[in-house]
Amino acid sequence: MPGYADLKHAFDELGVGGRPVIVHASLKKFGHIAGGPKMLLQALLSSSNGVIVPAFTYKTMVTPEVGPPNNGIVYGSGRDLNKMAEPFRMDMPPDKMMGVLPAALLAEKGARRTSHPILSFGGLQTDEILLAQTLFDPLAPIRVLTETDGWVVLINVDHTSNTSIHYAESLAGRRGFVRWALMPDRIIECPRFPGDSSGFNAIEEHVRPYTRRVEMEGGAFIQAVPLKRLIERTVELIKKDPLALLCQREDCERCNAVRDA
Ligand SMILES: [Zn+2]
Repeated sequence: MPGYADLKHAFDELGVGGRPVIVHASLKKFGHIAGGPKMLLQALLSSSNGVIVPAFTYKTMVTPEVGPPNNGIVYGSGRDLNKMAEPFRMDMPPDKMMGVLPAALLAEKGARRTSHPILSFGGLQTDEILLAQTLFDPLAPIRVLTETDGWVVLINVDHTSNTSIHYAESLAGRRGFVRWALMPDRIIECPRFPGDSSGFNAIEEHVRPYTRRVEMEGGAFIQAVPLKRLIERTVELIKKDPLALLCQREDCERCNAVRDA
């Protein structure tokens, strides 16, 4: 189980000092962390220059009966799930699948959160990065993070959790999707919703020369990639092979919609 000094040492070794970072984490491999996710955040903040996390809330999503064609969705398939959808509110907890770190970050003093009903980001000392997001440009914080020489930090997770690759997909001209979110008083349309990320580990070999990795006890690891390099390599890869990074599941609606386009 790592303590503050171990984590601080690991983050320093990644060399993200002075840069803002986006973090994706699963803390289970660490076992018990003395001080919990709050302490991990403090270690990370002391080694970087601001932290953002995805604080996504897929539980607000509803599937309509009809909608635009080739949208990677089966219209009318969500009748039962729609009944369980919850209206978005600013204090809605991020989905459990995002791990415990986003909720811990949002609980920090001075934390900010964007108001996208599905793809909200949380951040500390990153107000300008978060401000870029709109309903029509949900991944704009990744753009600003890239422009400011930010890094992506992956703690015990691989590139299937790496949201920034979706930004590169859209830069490369890959289509996005329309999704719908429940609000307290209405349903709103959310354009440019990203595709499926389960094939994203194929990027690993392309960013290996730029990836810094620290191995920790019990098979735990932290890796970091500079966003500019990640985005460049991903755009190159998709331009060369328009089917790159798609998954192989035959029933994957979003990857199949990209293939059909
Ligand atoms: Zn897929």
